[in-house]
Amino acid sequence: MGETLSLKADWLLPVTGPPVKNGELLISDGKITACRSLEKIKSSSGTIVIPGLINLHSHLDYSEAPFLKNTPLFDWIESLVATTRKWSREDFERSAAKGAREAILSGTTFLVDSSYTGQSALAMQRVGLRGIVGLELFGVDETSASPVFAHWQKRMEDLEQELQKLQELSGATQNSGALPIELTISPHSLYTVSPELFRLAVTWAKERRKFVLTHLAESPQELAWTDTGHSRLDSYLRTVLPRPAEARTAAGRDQIIERISWRGRGRSPVQSLEAEGCFSDKLIAAHCVHLGPDDLTLLARAGVSIAHCPRSNRNLENGRAPLEHFLEKGLKTGLGTDSLASTESLSMLDEAKTLVQLLTESGVFTRTEALKLALRLITIDAARAVGAAERIGSLSPGKLADLVVLESVPEEEEDDSTESPVEDEARILDALFKGAYRVRDVYVEGRPVVKNGTLENPAQKVAG
Ligand SMILES: [Zn+2]
Repeated sequence: MGETLSLKADWLLPVTGPPVKNGELLISDGKITACRSLEKIKSSSGTIVIPGLINLHSHLDYSEAPFLKNTPLFDWIESLVATTRKWSREDFERSAAKGAREAILSGTTFLVDSSYTGQSALAMQRVGLRGIVGLELFGVDETSASPVFAHWQKRMEDLEQELQKLQELSGATQNSGALPIELTISPHSLYTVSPELFRLAVTWAKERRKFVLTHLAESPQELAWTDTGHSRLDSYLRTVLPRPAEARTAAGRDQIIERISWRGRGRSPVQSLEAEGCFSDKLIAAHCVHLGPDDLTLLARAGVSIAHCPRSNRNLENGRAPLEHFLEKGLKTGLGTDSLASTESLSMLDEAKTLVQLLTESGVFTRTEALKLALRLITIDAARAVGAAERIGSLSPGKLADLVVLESVPEEEEDDSTESPVEDEARILDALFKGAYRVRDVYVEGRPVVKNGTLENPAQKVAG
């Protein structure tokens, strides 16, 4: 059918195999057909090619919300809610568009997003990003699960139609075996979704064989709340509870909080969700920082995937997640940035850089181990977490041609490493994560979506 595209680079980093020097990647019909070394090349181009990066947790909707650092989680959420409750649909649309642009320009090709309004999915479609978008679900009042869920279903139907319209407008013909944007459900967390409503969400997803996206065990306050019931979380809920008849008075709000059955049951957040039958191998849980003794076993037994968010965990004072134990238990794990309201950028290379620093400082891994692990967590391991390791996550023949071409940034003169050729994976990764390369081109299924650091925006071109 289509013609073959050849991409040459100083190095190809296939991830599932050793780096390929003087590499050539062949692409046909949106798929990689060869990843090989050329005996002779004219001269060094200063480029490397890596697989398209995968972000396992973001909220593009909040890309224009103020970034707060060194702020405890529940102070941060109260501030976020106060800002975004005033936003119009257009505000969310503009904010999500900004996030989608930033994500793809930094080399992300597949993104798992929890979206308050659904605008993330539309913004992703417009720039050519793919992934999984969970329309967020909130409703902690045990008595209103059915009407709240019915309302969510109506919103989902509307979103599905809007996304479909956009796809038709873009006229993009998809390759066989293409990965479309999957719309699904995102019950926000157990402290904002009642057990009854959470079960409705899980059942809805199970019937459709879709993923469920949630936040889990993010903060020490969440652990204290499900365990003893005494936590900063109650005052947070009093502030943010919507205002149906009963919640208009302080006493009414307290009643709603007191009857939330996750609260004060002597369980950890992980045990709470597991006990209510909310776990499955299609659950992607963000954070998982504050765990009880048997929680890792419960997560592993159910096949839950984890989105590890090192920068957001640090910035909102939630501590460091036990990544080494996730890996020991064989948990499917990748990295997530979280939103621009709690992290510095949507770049997975930046996220990986911070992870390497944290892992090296903590002494859990050597620097070389940390570098190699970080690359896997933003490519092949994340692909496994979204059940797509056969399709994306490495430069392997047969996989979709999602890839990033990076070019070296001219180095400072005093840097004496300029003369020494970069000869192994760890040294290339060291340079990559320290910012010695910048994203030049991004391909999604063999189609250029970023060229020379500029968005191609194929959807708009066709629509215009
Ligand atoms: Zn989040």
